[in-house]
Amino acid sequence: MNSTQLDDHGVLVTCPKCGQRNRLKYDKLAGTGRCGKCGTELTAPGEPIDVASDLAFDALTTRSALPVLVDFWAPWCGPCKMVAPELNKVAREGAGKWLVAKVNTESAQNLARRFRINAIPTMALFKNGLEVTRQVGAMAAPAIRKFLEPYLKNGKS
Ligand SMILES: [Zn+2]
Repeated sequence: MNSTQLDDHGVLVTCPKCGQRNRLKYDKLAGTGRCGKCGTELTAPGEPIDVASDLAFDALTTRSALPVLVDFWAPWCGPCKMVAPELNKVAREGAGKWLVAKVNTESAQNLARRFRINAIPTMALFKNGLEVTRQVGAMAAPAIRKFLEPYLKNGKS
C-alpha cells in the first residue's frame, strides 16, 4: 500500500525510523524536514502519491516547490499496469527533485474531464500549477526520464 498521503498543506510522510506521521509542506518539498518526534531527516517521498480529489490536486500542483509528474490511469487499463513499476523507479530516482502523482481517472472523473484525458495512460508534467507537457501512452522508466529532462532545469517551463 501507498503510505504517502496529501492534505491541503502538504505531503504526509511516515518517518522511516519511528513511524511518526509528519507533514512536509508543499513549498518546502525541495529541501528536507525533520521528524517532529525523533529528529530523523525527512525528504520528499520517493514513491508515487495517489491524488484523489481536485482540492488535493490543486494544492499539490500549485504549491509544490518541485515539478510534479502526473500519471492519469485506470484500474482496467493494461498498459497502465505496466507503467506502474516504471513510475515507482522514476519516483525513487526523483526524490527531492520531482514528485510523481497518480490520478485514478475512474474515481477522480472531475480531474480526468478537466484535463481532457481521453486516452490512458497519459503523463503530464506540472510546474507552478501549469501543465507544461504531456504524453499519451506507456513509457519505460528511461523514456519517462527523457520526457521530464528538458523541463527540470530552472527557469525553463
Ligand atoms: Zn521519527
